Amino acid sequence: MNNHVTVLEIDANAVLHNLQFFKQKLQPQTKILAVVKAFGYGSEAVEIAKIVKDHVDYFSVAYSSEGIALREAGIDTPILVLHPQIQNIEDIVRYRLEPNLYNFKIFEAFLAYADQVPLMNYPIHIKFNTGLNRLGFWHTDIPNIISELKKTNHVVVQSIFSHLAASEDLNEQEFTVNQINNFAYIVKQIYSHLGYEPMIHILNTSGVVHYPQAQFDMVRIGIGLYGFSNTPNETAQLKNTHTLKSIISQIHVIQPGETVGYNRAFVANKVTKSATIPVGHADGISRRLGNKNGFVIINGQPAPIIGNVCMDMIMADVTKIECKEGDEVIVFNHQQHIEYMAHKCETIPYEILTALSQRIKRLVKR
Ligand SMILES: *Cc1c(COP(=O)(O)O)cnc(C)c1O
Repeated sequence: MNNHVTVLEIDANAVLHNLQFFKQKLQPQTKILAVVKAFGYGSEAVEIAKIVKDHVDYFSVAYSSEGIALREAGIDTPILVLHPQIQNIEDIVRYRLEPNLYNFKIFEAFLAYADQVPLMNYPIHIKFNTGLNRLGFWHTDIPNIISELKKTNHVVVQSIFSHLAASEDLNEQEFTVNQINNFAYIVKQIYSHLGYEPMIHILNTSGVVHYPQAQFDMVRIGIGLYGFSNTPNETAQLKNTHTLKSIISQIHVIQPGETVGYNRAFVANKVTKSATIPVGHADGISRRLGNKNGFVIINGQPAPIIGNVCMDMIMADVTKIECKEGDEVIVFNHQQHIEYMAHKCETIPYEILTALSQRIKRLVKR
C-alpha cells in the first residue's frame, strides 16, 4: 500500500514519447545511449531503464555504484560508466560495466588489472577532451594510447567519445563546430592506427537538436528523455515526465499582523488562509522559492509559497482558493513550471529535477 502523500510520479509513456521525439531526428542506424545518472535525473534510474531498455542500445551513469544498482535490478544492456575511479575497477568488471578511461592513470590501472585477471577483449571506452576541459585525453596522447592498446588483447575499445561544452548555445556555434571537427580529426587518427574502428559519439540532447550532422554512431540523450529540449518550441513537443504531488496537511486562518513560518517572514496584512504542505528544502524545494517566489497548484489554482521554506514543509497562501485539509497539491506537473522554478532559483531544470530527495516516494505511472 502507498501510505506516502508526497510522491513523484514518473510518466512512462511520456519518457517513451520523448525518446521517440529524438529518435525521429536520427538516422535509422544511429544508436541511442540513454543517460540515467543521478537516479535518472532525480526520478528512478531502474524504472527509467526498464521503461526504455527495449528501445536503446546503451545506458550510461556517472559512477560505478549507479551501474551496479542497474545490474542488481536485472538490467543487462551495456552500461557506460562516465566517471569511474581506480578504486572501482574490480566492481566494474564484476558487474560487467564498461569504464570510460579518461587519463593515463586509470587507463594504465585498468590495463594492468585486465592483464592480471586476465580479461579477454573487455569493452572499454576512451574519452577525449575537445574543449570542455573536464575529463578526457588530449589529442597529443593518441600515439601513447595506441601503442599501449596494440600490446594487449585483454581489452577492446568499444567507443571513442567526447562531450560538447555549449551545445545548447547557438552563440557558441563556432566553438562547438570546432570541437566536433577536432573530434573527427582525433577519430581519423585512431582509425588509421588502431586496426579496428570503435563506435564514436559526441552529442548530448541539445547536440542532437543543433548539430544532427555530428550524430556519428551513437548519441547520448539525458535531459531530453525527461522532457526538456533547447527551445520552448521543442520542449512543447516533449511530454512532462516528473510530477511532484502532495496534500494539504493543515489549514490556518490568521489575522492581520500575525505571521507564518520561521523568522516570521510572512506577515499577514489581511485575514489570510494558509495551507501547510509536507515537502520542504530537504526534499529539494529550494529556500529561494519561499516568500512568494514559487507557487504550488491547489484545485487548479496557483497558491504562492509564503514565508520561508522549512526543511520538511512549505506553507502556501490559499486565501482565495476553495480547499480543505487532505486536498491534493501539485508542486509541479509541467516543464514550464519546472523552468519557472529553475529561473527563480537561478539554475537550470537539471538541478531542480536532480535535487528531489530520495525521501520522496517514486511512483511509476504506466
Ligand atoms: C550528463 C551527460 C550527458 C547527457 O547530457 P544531456 O544534456 O542531459 O542530454 C551526455 N554525455 C555526458 C558525458 C554527460 O556527462
